[in-house]
Amino acid sequence: MTTRSFHSVALVPPHGQTCAPLPVSTAERLPLGPLPVSRYPDPHIEALDKRFKGSPGTGAVERIATGFRWAEGPAYFRAGGYLIFSDLPNNRMMRLLEDDNHLSVFRSPSYNSNGNTVDRQGRLITCQHAGRRVVRTEFDGRIVIVADRFEGKRFNSPNDVVVASDDSIWFTDPSYGIGGNYEGLRAEQEQTTQNVYRVDARTGEITMVADDFTQPNGLAFSPDERKLYIVDSGLTHGGAAHIRVFDVDGGKLSNGRIFAEGFAPGFTDGMRVDIEGNVWTSMGWADPNEDGVRCFAPDGDLIGKIHLPETCANLTFGGLLRNRLYMCASTSIYAVYVNTQGAAVP
Ligand code: MG
Repeated sequence: MTTRSFHSVALVPPHGQTCAPLPVSTAERLPLGPLPVSRYPDPHIEALDKRFKGSPGTGAVERIATGFRWAEGPAYFRAGGYLIFSDLPNNRMMRLLEDDNHLSVFRSPSYNSNGNTVDRQGRLITCQHAGRRVVRTEFDGRIVIVADRFEGKRFNSPNDVVVASDDSIWFTDPSYGIGGNYEGLRAEQEQTTQNVYRVDARTGEITMVADDFTQPNGLAFSPDERKLYIVDSGLTHGGAAHIRVFDVDGGKLSNGRIFAEGFAPGFTDGMRVDIEGNVWTSMGWADPNEDGVRCFAPDGDLIGKIHLPETCANLTFGGLLRNRLYMCASTSIYAVYVNTQGAAVP
């Protein structure tokens, strides 16, 4: 356990920055708009149980942006009406304005940012692979470090992050960003394991809350914050491909058990939870017919799927009413209005 306070980041570009946008012509890009064969009800939205609220009926899955190398980490800003996400290997973050689908580079270099979220005050929280840290963008634009070391050693490569209602920041630290120079910078691993951490909002104290994952990845609280779901995508390193759930009390986790499994040879990466506690999780890497999103009821039943034409990594609920599901899937961003709302606020 170690204690540190927030401080400013030196504004030095990372080594090996690769922030050039993809040289893809308009003709070569995947078409935007509703996917082919989208007669209502959209067959890309598959209900397996009447509890699934994946479609309001008169809507379809749309590709709303494309041309990225590998899209991750969507975070929606309700006050501004825009989506921020990472184009990880291109070392940039993008901003997609909901009004007219205007797309622009939000930050480059991004230190190979991955997961993003919005804290309870509306500030952007970002995981950086190359920076090996979690940072926060303040209202005046300054970027401050939330966490970059534990017990004096650098993190592996923070991957995904959530903020609780007590303003504590919880994040995962797998090794994906230090294994090579494509999604980060190759580096020696200093932590002996790949863990999950909590940063106390008041003191800045960092505590390790789980240390028995192969590769901890996406994470999301239940609506009452009494449960925390955490993905293990360790299949990439000889481990499991499943979602575990923990009881949360007093900033600690206990009673870890498997919530959903059987994803191999595919796996999931990121999750979000809706207001009824259903867990929406990405899917990909194996059978193309399974690319997209799966939705699990709080009891673990698989109740629905959304089928996408690309491997999906992360998703988030957005829109003013938190009823538009944004999905980062390989080279494109997809979106669909759903019949529920995201639990996370703002
Ligand atoms: Mg991830």
